[in-house]
Amino acid sequence: MFNSTKKDIFFDLDHTIWDFDKNAEESLNELYFKYRFDSLFNQKSASHFIETYTVNNHRLWGLYHHGKITKPELRKARFADTFTQLGIDPALFPEEFELDYLAICPQKTNLFPNAHETLAYLGQKYNLHLISNGFKEACETKLEKSNLNKYFKNIFISEVIGINKPDPRIFQFAMSTANTHAQQSLMIGDNLDADVRGALNVGMDAIFFNPTTMEKPDDISHMIVDLKELQSIL
Ligand SMILES: [Mg+2]
Repeated sequence: MFNSTKKDIFFDLDHTIWDFDKNAEESLNELYFKYRFDSLFNQKSASHFIETYTVNNHRLWGLYHHGKITKPELRKARFADTFTQLGIDPALFPEEFELDYLAICPQKTNLFPNAHETLAYLGQKYNLHLISNGFKEACETKLEKSNLNKYFKNIFISEVIGINKPDPRIFQFAMSTANTHAQQSLMIGDNLDADVRGALNVGMDAIFFNPTTMEKPDDISHMIVDLKELQSIL
């Protein structure tokens, strides 16, 4: 599929290696009961709260990726909007909930199936690097707790660099720091705009990680639904 000149593989972290939704759900479920939201919403199960929050969070991350909102705006709106939509005054949202969530969630260690074995396999053949649009502190905790640091030669966090994917400059910065160039680089990520089209735009090849098996857009050539597939492709 790819010519043998590939030397450097750049991975996205959230929703590609680290199972963001599963880890968030676990954390929110714990906190729902800790903060007695079951009484507040009069709902014994956290599922409706989590589903509503997840939709809001994805929408707000999309705006953040495109530089339309800031990090504090994202953090403020995702729970406030959820409260409003569930018919509860957002002023009742306890600030400590958000702080607790930010502390607990990155410590969770659910990864996509076959993440460790695939990274170990690829690490023997390629230089692996990470480019994440996440926040510095959260990224560092996730990598450490999930024992992922050992696979990556370079870790590029957009908050540190000051540029988010899909801006070409973050890919160019990453390649130049890794001492490589587009022809020998490959990007793997779940986000069509930030990861896949962002990489293609600077001349890198890219693989769309699509674990929810949504329909592949026509402009995307390479897609996997399980990380394990990388072991036969690469
Ligand atoms: Mg991602």
